[in-house]
Amino acid sequence: MAQTLVWDTEKLLEQDLAHLLHPVTNLHRHRQSGPIVLVEGKGSRVRDTTGKWYLDGFAGLWNVNVGHGRSELAEVAREQMARLAFQPTFFGLATPPVIELAVKLSELLPHHSHFQFTSGGAESNETAIKIARYYWSLSGRPQKTKILSRRMAYHGIAMGSLAATGVPAYHADFGPLAPGFIYASAPLAYRNNPGLSEAEFVAMLAAELEEIIQREGAETIAAFIGEPVQGAGGVVPPPKGYWQAITPILKKHQILLIADEVITGFGRTGQMFAQQTYGFQADITSFAKGITSGYIPLGGVGVTREIFEVLATPDRMFMHGFTYSGHPVACAVGLANIAILERERLWENAAVRGEQLLRRLQELETHPFVGNVRGKGLMAALEVVEDKASKKTFDPARGIGGKLQAASRKRGLIARCNDTGFAVAPPLIISEAEVDEMVNILAESLDEVLG
Ligand code: PMP
Repeated sequence: MAQTLVWDTEKLLEQDLAHLLHPVTNLHRHRQSGPIVLVEGKGSRVRDTTGKWYLDGFAGLWNVNVGHGRSELAEVAREQMARLAFQPTFFGLATPPVIELAVKLSELLPHHSHFQFTSGGAESNETAIKIARYYWSLSGRPQKTKILSRRMAYHGIAMGSLAATGVPAYHADFGPLAPGFIYASAPLAYRNNPGLSEAEFVAMLAAELEEIIQREGAETIAAFIGEPVQGAGGVVPPPKGYWQAITPILKKHQILLIADEVITGFGRTGQMFAQQTYGFQADITSFAKGITSGYIPLGGVGVTREIFEVLATPDRMFMHGFTYSGHPVACAVGLANIAILERERLWENAAVRGEQLLRRLQELETHPFVGNVRGKGLMAALEVVEDKASKKTFDPARGIGGKLQAASRKRGLIARCNDTGFAVAPPLIISEAEVDEMVNILAESLDEVLG
């Protein structure tokens, strides 16, 4: 019988405030509001120390794709840990799970032949950026080093991935940023389309990309990095034809394409990878999050055979990798997690429930302060504005984000809330009734905070 644990909420709260430095949290306000301490999960829901259940509208951090409480993943981890907890992939060593996971990924992403693993998204993008530079250096073009990213991009918070991130709030007060990063516009029609048709907007973004490449010089640019659907910067599904317009320009100028599938990979956009959803193929793919549904940290990159052949030069060691590049326990859990995704075809539920989610959120566009709703598969955002005509955002002093957070949590929903609105990205197992419940809570919370 499952053991019933009793938690001392007051004590945990006190200890959290005394000792825990929370990421992406207003540390001053946290002292007043305190933590929600979560102790258990089942399906799309998580429970806190007081016994209150919440709908996990953000799947942890866009990552618990198979949902909570999958004890078979715990069993796989236990077995591998007991058999052989750790060996590296340095110096030509390997374990069966890391080899089997590389094989599995080469089947899921057939344009990639070789894979290296990490412990998360930022490490994956550091790896992707370094592989791009290394590739050009070994190809006799060491001056091709710049990384072309986009505004509103989120690629992680390590120094290289931070410089690739295009959200100013993450840069402020952490300077100097790593040099060699340049930015194109986000493909966000709501803010950046000056009234053109969708096709003309795509042509505008393609022309801007050409201009940037001309200005900087193609011979100085190693790679373009992009999330197929921008996530943490504000959920930006690209306009139709965007990737088809961008990829030939990069190819023409011999600029590698890095697809950051850290959020979009493993089913979230309605196919196993968003490169399938949008019909393009990157030279390097970075991934993390959904590969283990967050049950244990794991990330990695895949490269094309062409890149691998250059890396496998006779006279060099590949001097990059982390202690936990290919942790056997994480890789075993990754394999078992992918088996669940495939057995239950969860990308299909993401597509169907994603359409329902978008349709239901779009009904809220009539609300006087809802400026824009956008999404793809099971990732969506609702943007609030003070004035619909000018699209002016709310003054942060009004604390709209904190109020939306409090209003939705009170009603039993964990979503990502900030001064520009909500983002949701629930587990891919979410049911029809749960999608309705989530949107109803968002609507009630909007009414409470903005009237
Ligand atoms: N890339 C993308 C697209 C992400 O969304 C994230 C995390 N939200 C990262 C990279 C960084 O991943 P991590 O926090 O695991 O380093």
